Amino acid sequence: VLRPANTRQVSDIVKICAKKKIIIVPQGGNTGLVGGATPYNKNSVVINLSRMNAIRSIDPQNFSMLADAGCMLAALQKAAQEKGLYFPLRMGSQESCTIGGNIAANAGGILTLRYGNTRDLVLGLEVVLPDGEIWNGLRSLRKDNTGYALKHLFIGSEGTLGIVTGAVLKLSPDPGVRESFFAATSDLPSAITLLSELRSAFGENVSAYELLSKNALNYTLNYNKAVTRPVDTDAPWYILGEITGGPKNEQLKTQLEDVLAACHIKNLILDATLAQNEQQRAMFWSLRECVSDAAQFQAGGSIKHDISVPVFKIPDFVRDALAVVEKIVPNVRPAIFGHAGDGNLHFDLTKPDKMPADEFVSKWPEIYHAVHDVVQNYNGSIAAEHGVGMFKAKEFVARKSPIDVQMMQALKHAIDPANIMNPGVIWPSAGGKGI
Ligand SMILES: Cc1cc2nc3c(=O)[nH]c(=O)nc-3n(C[C@H](O)[C@H](O)[C@H](O)COP(=O)(O)OP(=O)(O)OC[C@H]3O[C@@H](n4cnc5c(N)ncnc54)[C@H](O)[C@@H]3O)c2cc1C
Repeated sequence: VLRPANTRQVSDIVKICAKKKIIIVPQGGNTGLVGGATPYNKNSVVINLSRMNAIRSIDPQNFSMLADAGCMLAALQKAAQEKGLYFPLRMGSQESCTIGGNIAANAGGILTLRYGNTRDLVLGLEVVLPDGEIWNGLRSLRKDNTGYALKHLFIGSEGTLGIVTGAVLKLSPDPGVRESFFAATSDLPSAITLLSELRSAFGENVSAYELLSKNALNYTLNYNKAVTRPVDTDAPWYILGEITGGPKNEQLKTQLEDVLAACHIKNLILDATLAQNEQQRAMFWSLRECVSDAAQFQAGGSIKHDISVPVFKIPDFVRDALAVVEKIVPNVRPAIFGHAGDGNLHFDLTKPDKMPADEFVSKWPEIYHAVHDVVQNYNGSIAAEHGVGMFKAKEFVARKSPIDVQMMQALKHAIDPANIMNPGVIWPSAGGKGI
């Protein structure tokens, strides 16, 4: 594992690897969940960027920040906040993941609904290419139509085209007053209609809209004793949402209460509560942020899918996907949760109560393919925000159209002809881990 301290050192390392045909596995916080940042081949080096953690500059007038790729996401949020600004990328792994990893994965997260994915937050990039050359694309422009937008090739490329060493990031004004609510609902169509009602009432200011199934909530409450049940009502689905209101909107709480009360009368929600103070707001969100671990540890192994479908298709997708899974493993316990506001669900399944964990996990390939077939029926994505990594490489190639695969492979060959950048990731490779 090599831990360079600056871009020049990354370049020097890559030049040696290129000459000796040594495989390079870029690594940030290693939180990626799809086997993208760990090697499988002994002729590999991991290049871990964690020592490159300087914020090079913040430009409040341009609403931008220039940072090393190894900066931890939470550190960037804090640095922006100290200048009265806001870096709107937020996710459960933010205390461990790096901005380089976020860029390489085009990470999404809780605020995608309002601010987009990482791709929408990157103005410029610095990248060490597979021959060791440094590409300086560190521009901080909002408009630049001079030819192909090269930065976008590297965003979401999962370390297969080069090593991101620095980035210019787009900041936003502080969103001001924030209200978080937790609601119980009896079914998914109501949950989706509630989102439309909120967007009609608050427009762009609906910044987060997260879904939790009953099992996902219960596992989390058992797992994390620091959180308590926000609403007493027992329901199959829960929503955690956040509305912002600008710097001085003292009416926001009352407005949100009124909208939720009207939705209760329309039977869209069974119950709801607003966070009464900052501590309670933090508790709601910490509950959401540990769902993934809770499901994994509480129920003895879980089979995970990171999928997206058009938002209004979520209820139909969940119905169809659960039906196919139930045929393969009767009494499976779904612990579905995710970013319902942007159509991304973590369709996680935990084993039936009495089934041994090994037996359940051995069904992973069959369940994976069956669920992904349903995703494809809805024209969705089998890798919504965590990327393809090694785990989904075969699935990705099998399910993309030949012309997609052809264009992407042409780019890969043009930029990394010796195939030393993270082979096995995105593109299947003999010996690579994957289903
Ligand atoms: C609890 C938890 C919650 C999560 N929540 C979310 C979420 O809400 N939304 C979401 O999108 N993801 C989420 N993730 C997944 C993960 O945190 C993100 O994908 C994150 O962007 C990965 O960053 P990392 O620094 O850990 O990258 P790593 O895991 O180290 O690497 C990810 C990929 O990027 C490549 N890479 C890393 N750094 C670089 C670099 N500098 N240059 C080129 N390639 C590089 C690696 O080779 C690998 O292919 C979550 C993960 C956990 C564990």
